[in-house]
Amino acid sequence: MIVNSHFCGGNIKVNEYASDGSVHLEINRDRKSDFFQWFYFEVTASIGEELQFHILNAKNASYPSGWTNYKARASTDGENWFLIDTVYQNGELRLTHVATHSKTQFAYFAPFSLARHERLIAWSKDNGAEHKVVCQSVEGEPIDKLTVGEGSLPIWVIARQHPGETMAEWWMSGFLKRLLDQNDTKAQSLRKKATLHIVPNMNPDGSRLGNLRTNAAGANLNREWNNPSRERSPEVHGVRNEMFQTNVSMCLDVHGDEGLPYNFLDGPLGIPSMTDSLAKRYLAFVDEYLKASDEMQKEHGYKTDPPGTADLSICTNWIAETFQCLSATLEQPFKDNANAPDSTTGWSPKRCEALGAAGVDALLSSIDSGIITKAVALR
Ligand code: ZN
Repeated sequence: MIVNSHFCGGNIKVNEYASDGSVHLEINRDRKSDFFQWFYFEVTASIGEELQFHILNAKNASYPSGWTNYKARASTDGENWFLIDTVYQNGELRLTHVATHSKTQFAYFAPFSLARHERLIAWSKDNGAEHKVVCQSVEGEPIDKLTVGEGSLPIWVIARQHPGETMAEWWMSGFLKRLLDQNDTKAQSLRKKATLHIVPNMNPDGSRLGNLRTNAAGANLNREWNNPSRERSPEVHGVRNEMFQTNVSMCLDVHGDEGLPYNFLDGPLGIPSMTDSLAKRYLAFVDEYLKASDEMQKEHGYKTDPPGTADLSICTNWIAETFQCLSATLEQPFKDNANAPDSTTGWSPKRCEALGAAGVDALLSSIDSGIITKAVALR
């Protein structure tokens, strides 16, 4: 049996091929950071062989509660990902799978490679999106922005500040396919009313390195918004500059959550300048997304920050405070949607894409009902 992780997004270290037939593994830390939880590796084995992997450092991962009721993903073709036997026991995550093919990939969640990202950008350009490289990452990767529509409302949608949250870019894939569908009347209407500025992958370095949360300089990009630097967080620095050029009516920042088995939104309710009217519009946006997708719920989520205490280094808070506009963070599960579990795939790329497609409905109905309003003039 051979274990390999030397490819885009790969992350695992082999400690030992143990005498009992199991393979002892460890997840590597993010570059220049203590975060870790994302794993992704490929195994070459004989068909019929029982593969057993023990991830020894699971208990020290960034979110150990993420392993409870969690099942790892596997694929034999890199396209279809299914759940495998997974137990979290004695601080180790144990994966078991009988090989049906000579090569099998295992991952924390269905990966979204930079090659797939490039295909998504190329497809979007072919289907009417305008493309711009906003800035470069620490290691020189382009930060791609797609602009769609010609309406007066500048709406930003960004994803994957945390590179291990690949569900965020799967969401983007579904969102873009729907938004750019020339025959979809709601997409047409949204494109007419808004200009959408879309960054499908905020953190290509971290994506390539197999990081959970940080970029190549060890920066957690979603803690850099109030004070980004060209050296440490050029990705946020560049996107922020672009936002000052376009202004912002609304921003949706797409993520994944290790612990909670639900889709949910989190808002900027605790920012210093929060008003009753903006708070109402945020809560109304949550309801619009709920109407747009059965996969969304609002019973489970993060605790609301007490008034005035929100962390302004977080994108959603910083944007609402700076542009006096609606903003929201969307979280999807690594586990499954516990309200509609799928025992074969769990929360999957297909379901991420459907939730992304529903984002078109949520944004359009929010414009039509006055929840997303004209951008406030910048000083
Ligand atoms: Zn995140």
